[in-house]
Amino acid sequence: MKSIAVLTSGGDAPGMNAAIRAVTRTALTRGWDVYGVQHGFAGLMSGDLKKMGPRDVGGIIQQGGTVLGSARAPEFKSEEGRKKALRHLNQLGIEGLVVIGGNGSQTGGEALFKMGFPVVGVASTIDNDLVGSEITIGVDTALNIALEAIDRLKVTASSHNRAFLVEVMGRDCGYLALMSGIAGGAEAILIPEMEKTPAEVAEILKSAYAKGKAHAIIVVAEGCTNNADELIKYFKEREAELGFEIRAIQLGHVQRGGTPGAFDRLLATRLGAAAVKSLDRGEYGVIVGLNKGQITTTPYTEVTGKHKSLDLGLMDLAKELDG
Ligand code: ATP
Repeated sequence: MKSIAVLTSGGDAPGMNAAIRAVTRTALTRGWDVYGVQHGFAGLMSGDLKKMGPRDVGGIIQQGGTVLGSARAPEFKSEEGRKKALRHLNQLGIEGLVVIGGNGSQTGGEALFKMGFPVVGVASTIDNDLVGSEITIGVDTALNIALEAIDRLKVTASSHNRAFLVEVMGRDCGYLALMSGIAGGAEAILIPEMEKTPAEVAEILKSAYAKGKAHAIIVVAEGCTNNADELIKYFKEREAELGFEIRAIQLGHVQRGGTPGAFDRLLATRLGAAAVKSLDRGEYGVIVGLNKGQITTTPYTEVTGKHKSLDLGLMDLAKELDG
């Protein structure tokens, strides 16, 4: 292998830059050429690739987002779109590709791999729904941002006897909601894997009020049938019965844009370097991830089209902690 390309795709995640840096530097150390692809698969199809040296990835390890840019590129789902990408890769003499991204992005990587191109994926999504890595790049930072918001909301909620519905990201996966709910000491946690009706949530709020709590925090995953928007309509009509005044807040993209913490920088650095090593030893069509404390590779066939299951036992733990 003499020349590789690296791209970031799908939703940005804090730590992607540390992964780009690790891929670039470990490949350069091997004497390979490295091309950065702008805007994910879109840039691969339009030929927007730039040769990178060690200085191009200097000073980015601490930055959130991705210096390469990311995009949703539906055209890549067609064979025609992927053929365009292959033409650009072949013209530049690129022999391997590292795809840093989540579920959709790794499905794209697999589609290219099935057309005969060496691809290795790096598990990166704040949703933590990707099979093949117990934890993915960006999750820890996104979780800490959600926690900081919950902690602050508790302070103001206590001063006004309020309840807050805090909607957190995670697409169809309740991981961020469950973990931030437990770590933030929420009164209730609503996740798509285990939904609650608005009436059930109302009972939790009433009971919290009756127990003399000065505040209540309900963490809601964005993928729930009743998201914060729906729930607030229901509660506004019944505020008098609840005891608490109720407010809703959507953390949304604020959760993505954070400065990557130590955990994500280290994870991204280890996974980025491992992806290059995987290409070096000719192990393609896999994603690199972290499992039981070790860096592992998992074939795309075991990753794509699947969703990592949540440890729902943690919901029981959350319930037991409700004082
Ligand atoms: P996140 O979940 O963190 O937002 P993601 O990687 O799951 O990230 P998606 O928007 O699902 O994000 O996918 C990113 C891109 O991957 C798509 O815009 C498309 O270019 C490519 N992609 C997704 N699914 C496929 C597919 N079935 N075949 C080829 N390419 C795909």
